[in-house]
Amino acid sequence: MIRGGILITGTEVLTGIITDRNGPWLSEQMRASGIQPAQITVVGDRPEDVLAGLESMKAQGLDLIVTSGGLGPTADDLTAEVVGRFQQREMVLDEPLEGRIAEILSALSSRWPNLDMEAVRAANRKQAVIPQGSTILEPVGTAPGLLVAPQEGTEGPLVLVLPGPPRELKPMWTTALTTSPLRNLVSEAPSFERRMVRIFGIPESELAASLRSIEDTGLDVSRLEITTCLRRGEIEIATTFVPAAKDEYEALLKQIRERHGDLIFSEDERTIDDLVAALLQGTTVAVAESCTGGLLCTRLTELPGASDYVLGGVVSYSNSVKQSALGVAPDLLAQHGAVSEPVALAMAEGVCSSLGAAIGVGITGIAGPGGGTDEKPVGTVCIAVTQGDKRLARTLLIPGGRADIRDRSTTLALHLMRRLMLGETD
Ligand code: ATP
Ligand code: MG
Repeated sequence: MIRGGILITGTEVLTGIITDRNGPWLSEQMRASGIQPAQITVVGDRPEDVLAGLESMKAQGLDLIVTSGGLGPTADDLTAEVVGRFQQREMVLDEPLEGRIAEILSALSSRWPNLDMEAVRAANRKQAVIPQGSTILEPVGTAPGLLVAPQEGTEGPLVLVLPGPPRELKPMWTTALTTSPLRNLVSEAPSFERRMVRIFGIPESELAASLRSIEDTGLDVSRLEITTCLRRGEIEIATTFVPAAKDEYEALLKQIRERHGDLIFSEDERTIDDLVAALLQGTTVAVAESCTGGLLCTRLTELPGASDYVLGGVVSYSNSVKQSALGVAPDLLAQHGAVSEPVALAMAEGVCSSLGAAIGVGITGIAGPGGGTDEKPVGTVCIAVTQGDKRLARTLLIPGGRADIRDRSTTLALHLMRRLMLGETD
């Protein structure tokens, strides 16, 4: 088994000013290449801390370390130098590389005519000083990436040094995979298959009980690595296995289907968002949102091509807008309250007719922390979906804080949309 560590550098990441986007991405890429991710560590810009991070991963016996950040032209960008020290390699100026960086800079400098080019060149000469014997990955921005192997005659991990900005790091990872040091490492890695099953509508504890009962039937799952994860109200079952264990996986899947077939909504990598988008092709949708404040419309429009079917939405937070923009009858509001299935239905129908859509969605609920009553506690959410005279409406009690309730409501609405489009009605 080939194991890898990810070392994220940058005080701005350590302090939480920016959220690490490289660690999770690199972890997924490693896994896809057959390298098992062992850890993601975040350190600040202090060279001692970067070195300590490298040493600790080496002590753990990892085969590959990928670093992110600290490759820029400024004095606090020290990763290349620290990695050189770690691999006991001298730092040398690579003159052809310096020339290539200078070319990139002169192209950029035309945008800033008053730049002191001499100072810029001096700062960027630093970026061409690299550990001797490194494999260079050409810059996407101005910083080159580096593959630095341990000094000959010594043991240790291969280090892949990548810049911090995600739009530079990602293409450079792909390039790194084509270089011989990383290619050799990956070719030693056993290949794994990963399958994903997504279920909606049961608690994680019930699924855990099912998995135990499947094992009790005598099915050998020892070659399957099964992880379940509760995410946005859905359960994901990810199973990783060597190709030779395919029959065991198929047997497991058959048993999961027997127990929860009606609740499985995806057996490939497609999310509920993807499935709803596919079903919406050739039709149109409009949404009326109260407690979610536009989050469902945001989620629907996150996928490219959404303009083919999303007409728009109305954020009808107040009762007056529910009446004026959606035509919800004042009597209905007075009789059932704003958080009720009749109002959710009226919102869905109202937005359909006012925006001229084929499918309408209405969401109204109490996201909290205030506003709950004994009858309708915080977390009560009513969702309705209509298409012509077909309709589906549900009242749910969603656990969690305000953000969870708002987020989960959008997931529930997507599932209700899918069910209606597949022909289920009240
Ligand atoms: P630069 O030449 O831009 O200085 P660098 O390799 O030195 O590149 P950093 O200085 O560590 O990288 O980070 C530069 C910027 O890249 C950060 O300010 C941040 O916007 C982004 N960035 C760095 N690391 C991450 C990360 N782990 N996740 C998301 N964004 C990041
Ligand atoms: Mg920097």
